[in-house]
Amino acid sequence: MPPPTPYRGRLAPSPTGYLHLGHARTFWVAFRRARQAGGRLILRSEDLDAERFRLDFADAMLEDLRWLGLSWDEGPDVGGLFGPYRQSERRGLYRQALESLRGLGLVYPCTRTRRDVIEAAGAPHEGGADEEPVYPAKFRPDPGAPLPPLGEKISVNWRLRVPDGEPMSFSDGFLGTQGCVAGRDFGDFLVWRKDDTPSYQLACAVDDAAMGVTEVVRGADLVKSTFRQILVYRALGLAAPAFFHCPLMTDEKGERLAKRHDALSLRAMRSAGADPEEITARFESGDLRPGRI
Ligand code: GLU
Repeated sequence: MPPPTPYRGRLAPSPTGYLHLGHARTFWVAFRRARQAGGRLILRSEDLDAERFRLDFADAMLEDLRWLGLSWDEGPDVGGLFGPYRQSERRGLYRQALESLRGLGLVYPCTRTRRDVIEAAGAPHEGGADEEPVYPAKFRPDPGAPLPPLGEKISVNWRLRVPDGEPMSFSDGFLGTQGCVAGRDFGDFLVWRKDDTPSYQLACAVDDAAMGVTEVVRGADLVKSTFRQILVYRALGLAAPAFFHCPLMTDEKGERLAKRHDALSLRAMRSAGADPEEITARFESGDLRPGRI
């Protein structure tokens, strides 16, 4: 029997705002799972969103996580063999992946606007990290149509063609079996944007594979993204990691915590004199059912 693969987990915060208690709990779970498995934990800064990225948020997220008592074995501030650990420094890898996908005929350029898609999809757009209208199959080019070159600077969106009607499933470490139907629950999704940035789905899957991540711990709002990323792994011939989706925290009105809940940012709690050990003790004592804070 081959030796068991050592556990490699990751924290993948985006420096687009201050981390709030909801992020912190997901990261705490990721941290604990890595430590309990005697594995390694990676911190990767998902800083590809040039519009919302701020350097002070990037510094703050590391500081706030350390304040909370988390530590990691590899990351932008500590180095490691699988770096660089900032996505903005890994563009070459994503570009290579896109070229492979193009070579396989699995992606195509798309000039439809968001409005075209929303109107044609017909269903109201729910918003949220993981929700986007299902891209209508009628907007796709013919599978056999020749693909234009990518060009040095990409100025058109590229989408991955999903296998319509294919039932997909994976066994989640917390939520149990998760299922969906490609093309019905989500459609062809962006792998590259017309502002020449890789999409979250592509960059995240490429990095989790390249960094040897064995389990992805993330919020339950990202289950559909996990299905999309499973298709990216498959298309690139990469093995998918295991997944563990944590239920989201809600505020007193039952609404999901978001970066706009400033009072619940770690930063605000910290300056109000909160005790990090008390916070993590609450994470430890509560079970993982969706709960109020
Ligand atoms: N950067 C993403 C976020 O903060 C990471 C999600 C994930 O864990 O893949 O939402």
